[in-house]
Amino acid sequence: MYNPKSMRAEEFIDNQEILDTLEYAEKNKNNLELIDKILEKASPKKVGNGVHCEGLTHREASVLLACEIPEVVEKIYKLAEEIKLAFYGNRIVMFAPLYLSNYCVNSCVYCPYHIKNKHIARKKLTQEEIKKEVIALQDMGHKRLAIESGEDPVNNPIEYILESIKTIYSIKHKNGAIRRVNVNIAATTVENYRKLKEAGIGTYILFQETYHKESYEKLHPAGPKHNYDYHTEAMDRAMEGGIDDVGLGVLFGLEMYKYEFAGLLMHAEHLEAVHGVGPHTISVPRVKRADDIDPDVFDNSISDEIFSKIIACIRIAVPYTGMIISTRESESCRDKVLKLGVSQISGGSRTSVGGYTEEERPHDTEQFDVCDQRELDEVVRWLMELGYIPSFCTACYREGRTGDRFMSLCKTGQIQNCCHPNALMTLKEFLEDYASEDTVKIGNELITRELEKIPNEKAREVAKNYIENIKNGQRDFRF
Ligand code: SAM
Repeated sequence: MYNPKSMRAEEFIDNQEILDTLEYAEKNKNNLELIDKILEKASPKKVGNGVHCEGLTHREASVLLACEIPEVVEKIYKLAEEIKLAFYGNRIVMFAPLYLSNYCVNSCVYCPYHIKNKHIARKKLTQEEIKKEVIALQDMGHKRLAIESGEDPVNNPIEYILESIKTIYSIKHKNGAIRRVNVNIAATTVENYRKLKEAGIGTYILFQETYHKESYEKLHPAGPKHNYDYHTEAMDRAMEGGIDDVGLGVLFGLEMYKYEFAGLLMHAEHLEAVHGVGPHTISVPRVKRADDIDPDVFDNSISDEIFSKIIACIRIAVPYTGMIISTRESESCRDKVLKLGVSQISGGSRTSVGGYTEEERPHDTEQFDVCDQRELDEVVRWLMELGYIPSFCTACYREGRTGDRFMSLCKTGQIQNCCHPNALMTLKEFLEDYASEDTVKIGNELITRELEKIPNEKAREVAKNYIENIKNGQRDFRF
């Protein structure tokens, strides 16, 4: 029986509820009266000084996703853009993945790190190698990392992950610093989540891959990841261990996207119902070609058009949840979805173990083909040319604004007085320390323009002062 408050995976991601939702969405996909009501419910409303968005239930959002009437789809895109602008402005947060180890005991059929892959080079970074990787990432200008590792209790035990986090945070090279380490490792115990929390991680990210239990078990035929319930209930254990920023995701292409979409939103509703706070982020990866993986084998791949629609509908349904896309996507696809709701992107990524210290992009230990291969400086410049502010901000988490405290910042409209100046100050640091001449020029002009948009006069003056101080060599200011 469907119960969002249940702690059992099969009850909060109830298969029958998803099937009923899909049927309801199919039946109502041309019901314009209902669709108008749904769009009206999701529209931003003024509350005091701020803007509030109610979001949508998985059933309501599924109706929007199912609707194919061109004028309605246009309205969906417009509303997503409006919500994106209301809560995230034109800021885009930058990050990079750091692959620690590709040793893995699982058998995920879409991932080249699966245990049966005997020809892929296996590599695990030593602490010395991690230092070199982190210095290379700092020299690009990164401040926020997502560490990635295969699951292997012998080669990559939790102690290795914890030691690596400590190493990453300890490296101070020139003006560089990694200020937030997000972690994308396999589902683990409450005790291990507590240790990760104590190590000072930002978001704990775990992709569900698919919410469809039967498919999940086929796609993960052996190894600890085979256990659907243990995997699906991981975020509850993470929250029990004290981590209140968690990141959900689906690997699109494995199962039917409408099923995954409903499952994803039901998972978000479950976290909200049980822990009082929804997911901090949602990632939307698509299956990519990799070593011995042919993405065409999976027959549920989605077009760029459907991909954009999914992103717009997620933006509307969970307005306070950040959305992430990686360099799996091309420049043109990223361009399209940034408007519709994506708030974080990676740049200059290498998905191989030890890839950042190699002159040429290595492929031997790569997890998937990187589509957007531009350097970070190019991505930053490109974003600014499109009118975005690339942000290297990590302030919320360092100021303790995580979980529901972050959400309330969003909800009270203080984000323009806080995130906006923080984005400009961290961009200024990037321009001073790492950017090319062209990027500096565009960036400084943008900062001058954008400073004037800080609504609170006092905050505006303080921010201008901080920017001047950064120009004079000081670092790490934040609101
Ligand atoms: N090993 C960890 C786990 O089991 O959750 C997470 C780390 S894994 C490096 C990160 C994610 O990469 C996986 O959750 C999966 O969704 C994604 N991935 C794996 N193979 C992929 C492929 N061929 N194309 C795109 N993404 C892939």
